[in-house]
Amino acid sequence: MRPTAATLGCGDVANVLWEYLDGELDVELAAEVRAHLNACPPCRTRIGSAQAFLRAVEGVEGVDRAPDALRERIDALLRERDLQS
Ligand SMILES: [Zn+2]
Repeated sequence: MRPTAATLGCGDVANVLWEYLDGELDVELAAEVRAHLNACPPCRTRIGSAQAFLRAVEGVEGVDRAPDALRERIDALLRERDLQS
């Protein structure tokens, strides 16, 4: 069964975070993520941090896209911060 807005959990959103920010999710799933974000302030905070990070890295001239390894580190940091709060 595909996740829906009602069943999409914070973990699901975290798993598709980068794809969502890159616009790589299919339209339906992206809409579900948006619906979750509207209802979930912690996820909004997390995606906001990830987005700010992407903008900072990708705003650097000659860099198309943050390397996956770097994304994974940021992802881990964001998750860690969630656990502490
Ligand atoms: Zn959430």
